[in-house]
Amino acid sequence: MSSRPIVVLCGGVGAARFLRALTMVVAPTEVTAIVNTGDDTTMHGLRICPDLDTVTYTLAQAIDHERGWGLINETWHAMESLRRYESQRPDGSNAGGTWFGLGDRDLATHLYRTARIDEGATLTEVTREIAKSWNVEVELLPMTESPAPTTVLVDPAIDAGPAGDGRIAFQDYFVRHHHSIPVRSVDLAARHATPTQEVQRALSQAQVIVVAPSNPFVSIGPIRALQGIDDLLSAAHDRTVAISPIIGGEALKGPAADMMRSFGVRADALGIAEHYQRIARHIVIDDIDRHLSDHIAALGLSVSVTNTLMADPNVAARLASATLNAAGYQLD
Ligand code: GDP
Ligand code: CA
Repeated sequence: MSSRPIVVLCGGVGAARFLRALTMVVAPTEVTAIVNTGDDTTMHGLRICPDLDTVTYTLAQAIDHERGWGLINETWHAMESLRRYESQRPDGSNAGGTWFGLGDRDLATHLYRTARIDEGATLTEVTREIAKSWNVEVELLPMTESPAPTTVLVDPAIDAGPAGDGRIAFQDYFVRHHHSIPVRSVDLAARHATPTQEVQRALSQAQVIVVAPSNPFVSIGPIRALQGIDDLLSAAHDRTVAISPIIGGEALKGPAADMMRSFGVRADALGIAEHYQRIARHIVIDDIDRHLSDHIAALGLSVSVTNTLMADPNVAARLASATLNAAGYQLD
């Protein structure tokens, strides 16, 4: 299979918005998305891949914009019906939990994925089948076939976790605690995992690599942590461009800026540039952060300053063009 010229490293929402914008300026068949699976979880025996699904549903124009995740026109009968069993659930059982919302239509995706994996299909194969079913032409690649669950360490007095040491599963932190508790550190199981051959090939043949405006620690971090990937990326550093997910010192959504502060990193676009300077020679920052461009340039990076707020589709499309241009990729 011939590989595609544009490769994007992706988490969920920030990446999905960028990919949608990108497909307004280049053909979707030019784009490969390498998607984080460190957020994946098993609920009700089903394999859930939140970032892959957010990207798929967004590109299929089926995402619920208000919630930011899951499908539009969703119903919740299955979740409501699970409540019947709550009073009988023994202590210590995880059966029938409803804190991780799965809509009725969304459940079909997880049922299909799980059944295919149980039949022996790879996640890469099933992801391709799901994307095709939604008429998504961007190539979506899960970063690895191996389980690579991200865990976070929090104050054990807030949540002791199963081992009593404050280590909790990523979705326990992100969804059950609404990412409202301080994170002491992030542990990426991805560092023990290998990327798929498809991922390695896509990266080594890419003409331009884009680091989407996703959470640098828990969305992009797991992809970088995979064996060999950070070295591959740093070798491709001249053709790699990162978009800052931090605008005016804050994340638009989620805990990226909070994490930067608790990890002792500057929570601004300069902090993002420092974080990515090993792998990206080009960085795109928001107009509001223009005053940081000289400091970023002093790191030896090329800086592009533009409106990076993707809420408006026309602005998002301009951001996509500016991003490709920043890395020297010529648009037709
Ligand atoms: P998640 O996996 O669904 O949490 O999403 P990601 O990690 O892909 O994205 C979360 C990040 O996206 C946050 O840090 C946001 O600041 C960033 N983000 C979301 N929308 C935008 C946008 O319109 N512009 C920029 N620059 N960043 C955005
Ligand atoms: Ca995610």
